Amino acid sequence: MDLKDCTQDELARWLTARGHKSFRAQQVLKWVHQHRLTDVGQMSNIPLALCEELAQHFQLARLDCSRHTTAADGTEKYLFTLTDGRRIESVFIPSENRRTLCISSQVGCAMGCQFCATAQVRPVRDLTAGEIVSQVWEVQYRRPQHEAVANVVFMGMGEPLANYDQVVKAITILTAAWGYQLSPRRITVSTVGLVPQMQRLLHDTQVNLTISLSATTDAVRNALMPINRRYPLATVLEACRSLPVAPRNRMTFAYTLLDGLNDSPADAKRLVSLLHGIRAKVNLIPFNSFPGASFAPSSRERLVRFRQILLDRGIYASIRESRGQDVQAACGQLAAPLEQAT
Ligand code: SF4
Repeated sequence: MDLKDCTQDELARWLTARGHKSFRAQQVLKWVHQHRLTDVGQMSNIPLALCEELAQHFQLARLDCSRHTTAADGTEKYLFTLTDGRRIESVFIPSENRRTLCISSQVGCAMGCQFCATAQVRPVRDLTAGEIVSQVWEVQYRRPQHEAVANVVFMGMGEPLANYDQVVKAITILTAAWGYQLSPRRITVSTVGLVPQMQRLLHDTQVNLTISLSATTDAVRNALMPINRRYPLATVLEACRSLPVAPRNRMTFAYTLLDGLNDSPADAKRLVSLLHGIRAKVNLIPFNSFPGASFAPSSRERLVRFRQILLDRGIYASIRESRGQDVQAACGQLAAPLEQAT
């Protein structure tokens, strides 16, 4: 088992079952996540005999960084190879006052959103909590301490809520005092709208939730996002009305604009009606093309008009400028296993 897969409670149980003090769990995990040791033997405040016992039972597995590319705007894409040879991508997005890492929760994705390259990747497998936090570990390992990752978004490959238990365990490690010490407010989980898991997540954690809508009628959403047949718009939005928003100020919705499909003024007005009664914030995402895509991005003019209609009717809306497009690192472009690692 990988030490990065353990919570403090799990490791403490393992230690006490072998006659060790439970406080050693916190010491060990700080070495792993905060000092980023790659060798158990280097844990200087842990007795040598315990180091040897840990080394016999646990690994400190590394993700193999098969490719690292930097876009013209400074966005960095990491292609990681897992121990079974499958590949995932993570994207580091620096800006003036935010350093955000977009991480993957699955290899591929079974949700089948038509505007997303990840949907083409098969077969799909869940990442372990250790593989999820290892993406943060590996990126931190390569960066100076003053440029540490400050925000984590689960918007890479995979539907995070389809891998619920491992994602929540990863959030526990990312927010723990013995882990990455990130505030839950600095973590965002994005979902296509898996209603029962959305409700569980907001009960179990304090992280932010973003729900991808990308259509204002069930007919269009059925065609773009097959999950809509299980959780139609009305069901998702009704759930949003009853979800506890506090301490989050607003529920965030993502809306990918596709030319001539979901970007008309009538769509914008329907979106306003759909969001009635929800303290909503809408992130408008220009479509980022990928090989084999059958859509075109909306023009800037249509994007701006769509946003203005929302603003005029009291819905906070912003346009998410695409980052890292030239290295296929933008939203909806991640499809690592389709590529040849170099
Ligand atoms: S947008 Fe998200 S949920 Fe939809 S296919 Fe892509 S990775 Fe999966």
